[in-house]
Amino acid sequence: MTAFRFDNSYARLPANFYARVEPTPVAEPWLIKLNRPLAGELGLDAEALERDGAAIFSGNLVPKGAEPLAMAYAGHQFGTFVPQLGDGRAILLGEVIDAGGRRRDIQLKGAGQTPYSRRGDGRAALGPVLREYIVSEAMHALGVPTTRALAATVSGQPVYREQILPGAVFTRVAASHIRVGTFQFFAARGDVESIRTLADYVIDRHYPELKTNEKPYLALFKAVAARQAALIARWLHVGFIHGVMNTDNMTVSGETIDFGPCAFMDDYDSKAVFSSIDQFGRYAYSNQPAIGQWNLARLAETLVTLFDPVADTAVNLANDALGEYGTIFQKHWLDGMRRKIGLFTDEDEDLDLVQSLLTLMQNGKADFTLAFRRLAASAENAAADKELASLFEEPQALSPWLEQWRRRVEREPPPATERAAAMRSVNPAFIPRNHRVEQAIAAATEDADFSLFEALLDVTSRPYEDQPGHAAYAAPPEPGEEVLQTFCGT
Ligand code: AMP
Ligand code: MG
Repeated sequence: MTAFRFDNSYARLPANFYARVEPTPVAEPWLIKLNRPLAGELGLDAEALERDGAAIFSGNLVPKGAEPLAMAYAGHQFGTFVPQLGDGRAILLGEVIDAGGRRRDIQLKGAGQTPYSRRGDGRAALGPVLREYIVSEAMHALGVPTTRALAATVSGQPVYREQILPGAVFTRVAASHIRVGTFQFFAARGDVESIRTLADYVIDRHYPELKTNEKPYLALFKAVAARQAALIARWLHVGFIHGVMNTDNMTVSGETIDFGPCAFMDDYDSKAVFSSIDQFGRYAYSNQPAIGQWNLARLAETLVTLFDPVADTAVNLANDALGEYGTIFQKHWLDGMRRKIGLFTDEDEDLDLVQSLLTLMQNGKADFTLAFRRLAASAENAAADKELASLFEEPQALSPWLEQWRRRVEREPPPATERAAAMRSVNPAFIPRNHRVEQAIAAATEDADFSLFEALLDVTSRPYEDQPGHAAYAAPPEPGEEVLQTFCGT
């Protein structure tokens, strides 16, 4: 049997941090996919796992050294506080130190009920498992911090949702699964000692450079805020909408987590919402930075008493730190947008230039991904402008912007080929387009055909390369193919 070199630091934390629970075996596990490069990174024997991994990745066989547990957490769901959530269908097997010396969680999602399941069955349906696999790996390939997909198995038993669906188990790898909601769990119970223990653990695990800081807990809060600011800016750069930015779905490590009703936009629309449960657009594309700040304010509330012994001083420190988040976000966002339009230097008017392009894209219903990718071709040769402009409902509306952009670009020395190459390295040709994700899920669910899933994984693993053989995957949906709503993973 494949050896996992577990070293389970979370299991060594006090018993009120989690509930020990074994996965519930499934009927007939079958391995859909193993992420071989990731397995290698984790020091696992990929070949052996391809043979006998189904039992492990479905929860039927607990590998030696694992200490399975469900983590306790709370969270604000769409603004409403729920004092007890926790891993209701996820079980942490343990942690391994990877080839780069980084500690990584290995968790099974859909592995059966836990003490936190409330009325849920502890299971996952095949569709959401495949979506999380595809989208998290695509995010990684795009260079966005994210949890990873190590494996997917079908369970051989049905799950009962609105319909009867094939069941599946997803194996997730994360820097950790500690969320804003983990801190809220203890804050809701007035348990300051546990908050301090958790904060010390997070500093040790994710921010060791802060250990000697004069105010380590304030420094921790600022560091988490800075990572979230950088992360959410990256989401915006690739047109990603998380869909459920509840505080229990926000990590303190700065990785994207919990890919439920998430989606990448096709046409640019700053108000885009896909999630069927997001009735009021709380988690719309352009609201994400502000929601990030709202969530961080909830984190600050749990830590504030540790910032300073004088209450007023502590609150002022928290508010100042929250204010810095906006500045840090804006800098990351604008730097990234500059790169997307091919700029190497900073000028004051750049913000206007970026914003006026986005306004044109919004009004002209231009495809977000294709527009930036084609702009790279325009940087090389104005003859390509026509193809770019054709993405807009009124192609001629783009001309004044293109003139202004060329005047700006010509003030910089790099030659056109270098600029175009730089643009192609940040503007993907391939994203996991929603309709492709849905097609892959439908084929797998209805016909046990995983070929579309494999093809989509393959093409989105090299998002910045032109792959002429896969041009169809770069295309937006045809009329009638658009996906208007996505559904939660439950
Ligand atoms: P999520 O929407 O996946 O972020 O989950 C929100 C909360 O609901 C978490 O506490 C989950 O563990 C729990 N949950 C979601 N689906 C299930 C399920 N099928 N069985 C038990 N708990 C679930
Ligand atoms: Mg969640």
